[in-house]
Amino acid sequence: MSSTAPAIVYLDHNATTRPVPEAVAAMVQALRQDWANPSSTHGPGQDARRLLASARGRVAAFLGCAVAELVFTSGATEANHMAVLGAVKASGRERVLMSAVEHPGLQALAQRLRGEGVKVDFIPVDAQGRLSLAAARSLIAQDVALVSVMGANNETGVLMPVAEVAALARAAGAWMHVDATQLAGKAALGFAASGADLMSVSAHKLGGPKGIGALLVRKGLAIPPLLCGRQERNRRGGTENVPGIAGFAAACDRAAATLQADIERMRALRQRLEDGLSALPGVHVYGREAERLCNTLCLRFGSLDAEQVLMKLERAGIVASSGAACSAGGTQPSHVLLAMGESELHAKAGVRLSLGPETTAAEIDATIAAATEHLLPLLALAEAQPVS
Ligand code: PMP
Repeated sequence: MSSTAPAIVYLDHNATTRPVPEAVAAMVQALRQDWANPSSTHGPGQDARRLLASARGRVAAFLGCAVAELVFTSGATEANHMAVLGAVKASGRERVLMSAVEHPGLQALAQRLRGEGVKVDFIPVDAQGRLSLAAARSLIAQDVALVSVMGANNETGVLMPVAEVAALARAAGAWMHVDATQLAGKAALGFAASGADLMSVSAHKLGGPKGIGALLVRKGLAIPPLLCGRQERNRRGGTENVPGIAGFAAACDRAAATLQADIERMRALRQRLEDGLSALPGVHVYGREAERLCNTLCLRFGSLDAEQVLMKLERAGIVASSGAACSAGGTQPSHVLLAMGESELHAKAGVRLSLGPETTAAEIDATIAAATEHLLPLLALAEAQPVS
């Protein structure tokens, strides 16, 4: 028996990325050497504190924010919660706006807020997944605490007009929050230049570890903490995740050095994949006319259920994912595709292929070949028996 496992073509980088070697090394070093509590006043504690300060400076430089604007959190989900709940509490206003295609964590928070009497309205998107600025303009008013719009959608990769929404929010005295989780490592990110007041990021989408991320808070904004304690300038209590932060910083250093080349490479490979797959009959690419992230391809193969497509692809060694959520009650359609006006059937058919910096041309060609071999017969069959 061969000792090497069959190679898997990993096309699920929007879900998470493999930690880069520099991040793993930095984490191991922090665990072995700088394991003391950075709040301790003794020597080992001060060593950990110095590591934390260095890492904070490097993450801030990568994200284009001031060191004092960076609050480390357990990831983007926590950062999103802190932004929304903090804005409602700080402003005294009782209305929140968010795009109709925000991450499920934010959608769930919206439901909870509604249950607690906070008004939440969703800004619609068009059939390409682009945010309606006209709707944003009419919804943003003086009673809004916060407008939350993601930088790029995790399912379709469609980019959102952050600067324009930020200007509208500012004019109404509302805070603007950007969930930039999918931008980091795939687009240039500058908090200061974005016009946003708050921005969420997560390390594991750019080659860092899971369980660490940040909320960027514009200077001068007093945001109440979710977790009380003295750490992070009283904005996020709890002993700092030093190994996670060290890994995050190492991933940022690496991404900063390779970002432009990575973007160009991923864009060219995504185009190759898109061209190859859209040559198959019945393939529909989502957000094709919109500005999109360089690495993301969201499509459906006719009306084939995403689950069926993903199973076929995985058998051929290719792993990807769908926006549709599987639950005990069966497949739930993707809320993103529904918001784009898709039918329930098609909203269960969306498949997301997301590339990373290490994706190769050979892997892209293998994916096109596998889809042609394994999905083409299914498509032909489905065409012969159209769904009623
Ligand atoms: N927002 C977006 C847009 C995401 O894609 C994700 C990760 N799937 C999150 C938030 C949640 O990030 P984390 O895993 O760090 O909580």
